[in-house]
Amino acid sequence: MRKYLLPETGNFYKGNLHTHTNVSDGSMSPEDVKKMYKDAGYSVVAFTDHDIVAPQNHLTDDEFLAITGMENYINTPIIRRKDWDFNFMQTYHLCFLAKDPDNVVCPAFAEQYVERPHSLAYMTEEMKKYAYDREYSQAFVNKIIKEANEAGFLVTYNHPAWSLQNYKDYGDLEGLWGVEVYNTAGARGFFPDNNQAFVDMIMEGKNVFPVAADDSHTLNSALGGHVWIKAEKLEYKTIMDALERGDFYASTGPEITELFVENECLFVKTKGAEAIYLNTECRFGSIVKGKDEVGFNLKDYLTVLRADDCQDPFRPFVRVTVRDKDGGMAQTRAYFLDEIGLL
Ligand SMILES: [Zn+2]
Ligand SMILES: [Zn+2]
Repeated sequence: MRKYLLPETGNFYKGNLHTHTNVSDGSMSPEDVKKMYKDAGYSVVAFTDHDIVAPQNHLTDDEFLAITGMENYINTPIIRRKDWDFNFMQTYHLCFLAKDPDNVVCPAFAEQYVERPHSLAYMTEEMKKYAYDREYSQAFVNKIIKEANEAGFLVTYNHPAWSLQNYKDYGDLEGLWGVEVYNTAGARGFFPDNNQAFVDMIMEGKNVFPVAADDSHTLNSALGGHVWIKAEKLEYKTIMDALERGDFYASTGPEITELFVENECLFVKTKGAEAIYLNTECRFGSIVKGKDEVGFNLKDYLTVLRADDCQDPFRPFVRVTVRDKDGGMAQTRAYFLDEIGLL
């Protein structure tokens, strides 16, 4: 029996889930941002301006979906040398994506932290519901994430490397939906990010999803990392449900067109692969080069895991990475074997 990991039916929609406009510190208007992405073949853009939820629902049309969101941060109160403080600062940057396009009341919003006065034009009285003072700690960030989840937001942990964070800062985070594995602004600047935090979290058995995103502020930081979302139609709730389920993958180039398990083989079909990798929670893995589709045989791996004396200290999963000739990478989420019925 065939089990589809990316859904069998529906369409792939290209999306950028981390975007700034002139609502905060981006250089382009939301309208120009839409035009740029739409012209480049994107169907979905999450507008995640700093500090405030500013819905851009008027931009949604038959071929374009604007997702309502916000990026917010919690910094260390560090003072090393005042004019250099920013350079030393560790910081949690989180994106909040609203499951309801009209939901502007996000628990991460706090009026006193809105950095750019012009952003306040979007503030409403109801946004003040969750007033708070920030504290740089995982316990505090977990409280914000929990409240955000309860208020109907998916939460992404952004650019951990750029944020100067390591396992001590993110190891105990709970309730995250996504983790950035690629950030175009960082990659085209001097501070590329990576998938270490994502891998650390799935190795802990947490089902967080990899997100490649632009964090676009200008043209120079746009049209790089993206996601391909597989969904039945381009409609707000349908797309958010697909995101929440993990029916998407992250990419900086190659495409994954099919992903399913059949007869204990994991089949991957791609466009433009130079190499296809199978990774798991342990050192069972594989690489196939020079083909754009492959079936990875999981039988030996599953036999070991199913044996009575197997004491796997991890929660077993499979995931796929695809590389193209230009060094672009696509990565799927971790499909935990208990979740997909293989264990
Ligand atoms: Zn950020
Ligand atoms: Zn950002």
